[in-house]
Amino acid sequence: MHEFNDEVESLAHEILAYSLERLKADPPLDGPLSAEELYAKVGNTITKDGLGGHEALKVFTDVLALACISTDHPRYLSFIPSAPSEHANLFDLVVGSTALYGGSWLEGAGAVFAENQALRWISDLAGLPQESGGVFVQGGTIGNLSALVAARVLAREREPDITRWVVAFSSEAHSSIKSAAEIMDVLVLDVPAEPDGHMTGRAFGKAVDDYLSANPTHGIFAVVATAGTTNLGIIDDLDSIGQEAKSREIWFHVDGAYGLAALCAPSVRQLFNGVQRADSLIVDPHKWLFAPFDACALIYRDPSIAKRAHTQHASYLETLEEGSDWNPSDYAIHLTRRARGLPFWFSLAANGTDEYATAMQQTLDIANYAAQLIRENPNLELVAEPLLSIVAFTRTGWEKADYDRWSEKLLADQIGFVVPSAHQGRPILRFAIVNPWTTEKDIADILKTL
Ligand SMILES: *Cc1c(COP(=O)(O)O)cnc(C)c1O
Repeated sequence: MHEFNDEVESLAHEILAYSLERLKADPPLDGPLSAEELYAKVGNTITKDGLGGHEALKVFTDVLALACISTDHPRYLSFIPSAPSEHANLFDLVVGSTALYGGSWLEGAGAVFAENQALRWISDLAGLPQESGGVFVQGGTIGNLSALVAARVLAREREPDITRWVVAFSSEAHSSIKSAAEIMDVLVLDVPAEPDGHMTGRAFGKAVDDYLSANPTHGIFAVVATAGTTNLGIIDDLDSIGQEAKSREIWFHVDGAYGLAALCAPSVRQLFNGVQRADSLIVDPHKWLFAPFDACALIYRDPSIAKRAHTQHASYLETLEEGSDWNPSDYAIHLTRRARGLPFWFSLAANGTDEYATAMQQTLDIANYAAQLIRENPNLELVAEPLLSIVAFTRTGWEKADYDRWSEKLLADQIGFVVPSAHQGRPILRFAIVNPWTTEKDIADILKTL
């Protein structure tokens, strides 16, 4: 297997040339095919003798890659797109070709050191103390679950007699929070949100007090506030929720998978006031911090709690646990890990943090521009004034089927990728703008089709 011959060398050139081309040109949007269609084109690619690198690459570049939507296309505005910087994407090639191990200091000290500096940048933006720290995990789902598990470990240590543990959040919280509660088999305290969808400290405090007087043997171990909901970009009132949580000794977790990226934009920084009170927070650099999939920054105010919760113990691991080294494996639900924070670190190190503020502001400006065009269009109506870079709106007179038809045609015509969402039971459209290469013309061209 491990031989570097002429074939491998020429394949390396081919792969680098393909990657470079992909980085240089705006890729086509592309779109999915069915498994039958793909089979008809490539057949069974796993064979006894192998296709050879050149042929296998051709299968990928000529067929498979074209059946994957380019999530970094400037007109991919669905879900939360991806917009890795060139530096981050290039460095992913390095991470992929060096077999770096990111789980322990012993094996990956240099990589872990660099990742930790990138985490430090985020901690400092949030105003967390110098002792804070964490790890890059696969995504926000694992980040949220890991943080909540740490919160419950602390609560159990403090109050061993509680019969049932409960986590509080509002109905606007991300699906991964409900999923975490199910996995952990804890109860959910549903905190009523304000009419515009944000949760306040007052509503949270009252919900807790009412719940505990009715259920005195239960314990509320955490509250999750969302800093930028996925659908509309709504930000809970972090400051008052953080205060109410602290006065009741409840862990304050901030889910900023999408929104906390905007901490680096001075124009919106004040929307996140109170985030410095967080016991833990997450933000996904693969969403709005110009890093490739998959990387979620998970940061704890007091990482020693997370270490108690997550360190795996076994005879074959104990050498890693001697001494005070920082082992990223100890801070989340995982063991083996790719040094997935390195592309983000490289891009930050190469470009400098000012460049991040500029790119972030560019996306915020384009979102404002989109909102302005929508306000001016008599057929369209904003669902809410955008706070960050998600712009949600409706088309007067349209039913779900009209939105679906429009969306399918938009992709088929390769004009854009915008899928319908829903808000309060009615269909809506939304642009999620995280790509600094998305232009005013991109937005105008898509809106013209409405
Ligand atoms: C995307 C998102 C998540 C989940 O993150 P993944 O990286 O997709 O696992 C959690 N919370 C919010 C608010 C999100 O937008």
